[in-house]
Amino acid sequence: MTLPIKPWIHDLPVYEPGRPIEEVAREFGFTNPQELIKLASNENALGPSRKAIRAMKRAASNMHRYPDGGAYYLRQALAHRFGLTPHHFAVGHGSNELIALLGHLFLEPGTSLVMADRAFAIYRLVGRLYQAEVISVPMRDFTHDLDSMFEAIRRDTRLVFVANPNNPTGTSVSRAALDRFIERIPPHVALVLDEAYVEVLPPELQPDSIRYVREGWPVFVLRTFSKTYGLAGLRIGYAMAPPEGVGALNRVRQPFNVNAMALEAALAALDDEAHVRRTRRMVSQGLRQLEAGFRSLKLNWVPSAVNFVLVQVGQGRHVFEALERKGVIVRPMDGYGLPEYIRVTVGTKAENERLLESLAEVLVDER
Ligand SMILES: *Cc1c(COP(=O)(O)O)cnc(C)c1O
Repeated sequence: MTLPIKPWIHDLPVYEPGRPIEEVAREFGFTNPQELIKLASNENALGPSRKAIRAMKRAASNMHRYPDGGAYYLRQALAHRFGLTPHHFAVGHGSNELIALLGHLFLEPGTSLVMADRAFAIYRLVGRLYQAEVISVPMRDFTHDLDSMFEAIRRDTRLVFVANPNNPTGTSVSRAALDRFIERIPPHVALVLDEAYVEVLPPELQPDSIRYVREGWPVFVLRTFSKTYGLAGLRIGYAMAPPEGVGALNRVRQPFNVNAMALEAALAALDDEAHVRRTRRMVSQGLRQLEAGFRSLKLNWVPSAVNFVLVQVGQGRHVFEALERKGVIVRPMDGYGLPEYIRVTVGTKAENERLLESLAEVLVDER
């Protein structure tokens, strides 16, 4: 049987996510998945906010009801938090859904998007999904080169993606560079600022993207409850944009794109500042611990202020596989054109220690 699927869909690559712990445990014969540690997907090692867990338990008995399709309370709370209005917010099934919806709004054959060569891989996939050309601009020192990205904009460009801080490099662009970029952006282009990790940054390092939204620049700022808030399994994120952009997103999304439990948990998590502070502390201590470990192993790494770090280990794929056999799951980076690197999520103190010990053993075998 041959299905009449649109021909170009056959050539789309499938996104390769980090494998779930249970699957790795099965393959390598660990009887208890708890013997493994997963430092592969930039999840929050502290888990979800306890306030969010309580909210989910409370919400469980209401799951026969459809969710609030307009996300009324969450958008109110976000507006209050950021000094904007509910009309500046669209809520999505993870920020990944919003990235795809932005493709739906702006991209088609004959258009292009601009991204950095080592930025989050989903942008490229969404470009191809909507048959737009993907213009990939080399990074400089593992950082978005906004001047070169500006030069790369063409008449047919509709979207520019900047992940800030970027995954997988952990680097940020400066406020000054971003201000300069925004002020020069041509009227046929919208800028997507993907800020999935922004809450984990110390407040003085956080970009001022809310100002761009408030002032009505052509931006979509994407944020998520997956990382700092520890709710990756629930799938909920949001876009902040001038109301015209939010209105367009609302026209293309499905009416109940975000589930009711996720809405309740997000609302509670947003209110749990203590959990965010704990997470920040765990990340900054963990980064220092990992850096000290890498230094004593004589490894280079890309300085990071977020909950993951790129480290140069030689044959990345090989080291990834050897670590996996020891029950430590990290992420190989050959897919990003960085075959000598692995990306490691910052874990708890004990997890970081286990990673460093396993890495030391693996590198002895390698060298
Ligand atoms: C993890 C991540 C996201 C978040 O995706 P969700 O769909 O909200 O889980 C978005 N952008 C980047 C750069 C990420 O690393």
